Amino acid sequence: MANSTLITMMCSAAVALTATGAAPEHFQPCAKELLANSIELEKNAHNLNVIYFTGNDMQPTPESDRRLSELLLYLQQYYGKEMERNGYGKRSFGLARTENGNVDIYYIKGKNAHKSYAYGTGHGACIHEVEEWFKAHPGKKMSSHTFVIMPTWQDDGYSDKNPGGVPFYGLGRYCFALDYTDFDIKHLGKKTREGKLLTKWYGGFAHELGHGMNLPHNNGTISLNKAMGTALMGAGNYTFGMSPTYLTKASCALLSNTEIFVSAGTPHAFYTMEKDPTVYQTTFERKGDMLELYMEVSAEVACINAYVQEPPYAVNQDYEAVAFTCNMGTNQEGKRVAGVMIPLNELGNLRNRDNGELALDVLIQTYEGSRFRWRIPFDLSKQPAGTQINTGKPVFHRGY
Ligand code: ZN
Repeated sequence: MANSTLITMMCSAAVALTATGAAPEHFQPCAKELLANSIELEKNAHNLNVIYFTGNDMQPTPESDRRLSELLLYLQQYYGKEMERNGYGKRSFGLARTENGNVDIYYIKGKNAHKSYAYGTGHGACIHEVEEWFKAHPGKKMSSHTFVIMPTWQDDGYSDKNPGGVPFYGLGRYCFALDYTDFDIKHLGKKTREGKLLTKWYGGFAHELGHGMNLPHNNGTISLNKAMGTALMGAGNYTFGMSPTYLTKASCALLSNTEIFVSAGTPHAFYTMEKDPTVYQTTFERKGDMLELYMEVSAEVACINAYVQEPPYAVNQDYEAVAFTCNMGTNQEGKRVAGVMIPLNELGNLRNRDNGELALDVLIQTYEGSRFRWRIPFDLSKQPAGTQINTGKPVFHRGY
């Protein structure tokens, strides 16, 4: 990206983001009310690409621009407030704005009919066409993170009353959600049919966007869930807007090194690291009713999260992974040191908690956003207090 483009983008973001609490004039009254207690977010170095994608036989749902702008700005505030609560500053994902204050949503018409972009298989064709569009529109791609929204199908199976048909998931730094007539913030938290439908699809929208911004599934500890409700990256897609829903500190730690969360002026590029980070030392020990992880790693490591989970480790079997984030420091040799205590009685309802295989997933993230996961299986019935758990050598899987 040319420097001049970057500067222009930063300036336009600055104009929009200084308007704290002041929703655009044309927003509906309830949206203005919901945005009235907005916090002033730090200016971003990079913005999320928001795409409204339709098949060549479909139109965007009426008033999509205003409705989605209201929903996106409310969600930007939600993420920003959760980041601040967890100690990572008033930072959220960047959104470019148009002159009238709406979010700058790119409308792209697909080359084929809507059925070519179906839930199970349509994401590939869509991503291909979106990337082609970016190539044909230099300067429009503001980051590596792209959120694609498609209108619900209207046929025997799907409608505005029962939306669906289109992709709805995260895939690397792409994520997909949907739009329908009542996808409107005026229904937020209402116990009506439209309100319940909104929680389902807005909760999903918030959750899938999390995936598209580097977040894996996770759950909080027992105490945290009691105090805060449901983790958004756990089952929070079913509660968002209706009952308390929060981001874990582990989620916020990852967001803090995500391209579209870093502050204006961050000079480095993202997701370019080719080699694995170096692990100099790992100890993983059972101490009474605690597990203690300590690591020494190379200087490019920004954060380390630890997730306790159980098999099967397949896709979408990890909602219950209880998340912890390490306290990070740098020692005199310039190595990054990380430590965390994991109370066994906080591990929720993992079936194998006392007997059977569990895994500690160590998720390392570098300052330039890349993620590396190392799985360490163990069995507490074979680990009396005071014993070291054998970690073996680090084996990393990238990018998840
Ligand atoms: Zn998910």
